[in-house]
Amino acid sequence: MVPFNLPFLTGKELTYIREAVESGKISGDGIFTKKCHEYFEKRYGFKKCLLTTSCTDALEMAAILLNIQPGDEVIVPSFTFVSTANAFVLRGAKIVFADSNDRNPNLDAGKICDLVTDRTKAIVPVHYAGIACDMDAIMQLAEKYNLFVVEDAAQAIDSYHKGRPLGSIGHLGAFSFHETKNIISGEGGMLVINDERFMKRAEIIREKGTNRSSFFRGEVDKYGWVDVGSSFLPSEVISAFLYAQLEKLEDIQAKRKEVWNVYYQRLLPLEQSGKITLPYLPEYATNNAHMFYIVCKSLEERTALIDFLKQHEIQAVFHYLSLHKSPFYLPKHDGRELPLADHYSDCLLRLPMFYNLTTETTNYVSDIILKFYKDN
Ligand SMILES: *Cc1c(COP(=O)(O)O)cnc(C)c1O
Repeated sequence: MVPFNLPFLTGKELTYIREAVESGKISGDGIFTKKCHEYFEKRYGFKKCLLTTSCTDALEMAAILLNIQPGDEVIVPSFTFVSTANAFVLRGAKIVFADSNDRNPNLDAGKICDLVTDRTKAIVPVHYAGIACDMDAIMQLAEKYNLFVVEDAAQAIDSYHKGRPLGSIGHLGAFSFHETKNIISGEGGMLVINDERFMKRAEIIREKGTNRSSFFRGEVDKYGWVDVGSSFLPSEVISAFLYAQLEKLEDIQAKRKEVWNVYYQRLLPLEQSGKITLPYLPEYATNNAHMFYIVCKSLEERTALIDFLKQHEIQAVFHYLSLHKSPFYLPKHDGRELPLADHYSDCLLRLPMFYNLTTETTNYVSDIILKFYKDN
């Protein structure tokens, strides 16, 4: 069976975990967490990074930092992972779902101005497949209506919008190091704080509402309960794993792009003959090869293709049932149709994509897809 995903190990993970364990300090914010923070701040120019135990946690921190209150409205794409919306729902927000655009699943930035009301507090663009949303349009709108922007950059490590790293453009950015992402630590995430106003409070919220971070830096002589918060920081065991991955980031990215390009070249004739749609990269966006997806013509066709691939021992998966139609949110949704979110929900198919996928196997998967469309 060709699996959909296989986590890649650099070989240094256990060495660093052993180092962390033997150092005698395995709770959070030790040497490896600091190394990871420094790596990200140096490589991407992020003003402040805080590792978290997941991207979901980073989004929950963002919702607390923005002081989201019951009744506040937050604009979120419907075609996304549940955490993008759930983090704000936990604080009582009403989610106003935005539709995708017709070229790729990212939210249609040109249409979100219609969704803004005097209760709107924030916009949460998701850089689907690591491909940038139209951040110029989103930031302009945010400025005009005085809104916060939280980038859900879970899939977007090492990807850029007009030369600026994703996650560094909004007021806050959230990354994931879940084992299905490019750079992994099993479970893991990071909050990037670009707006100075949130830096101090972010540390407090992440440390159970205490000023323990200031205490460790010697800025206060005792620490205590100063705000709301939770336990959002990962242990050194997780950070040690992540650091091993970061050392190989360039190699990982180069290899994934190779796989991505093989798919793209092999499947291009199917797009040219109008049978499927391939990922679209706007001129302002880069590709971080997080994912390779195709968009089929219909749900029936996609189901048949998944079956066909399965018969040939290939695991391909679809993605995201539109959140506005989810059992949890459907009764709360304002009833607007979101046809493009539904389209991607019905027709998008993700192909196997991981570091150790050989060119031979990538060609094989492509050939099976070509065969499917030749016969259909
Ligand atoms: C993976 C993902 C998340 C959740 O990340 P976790 O680290 O598993 O919490 C959130 N949003 C998007 C768009 C994702 O792809």
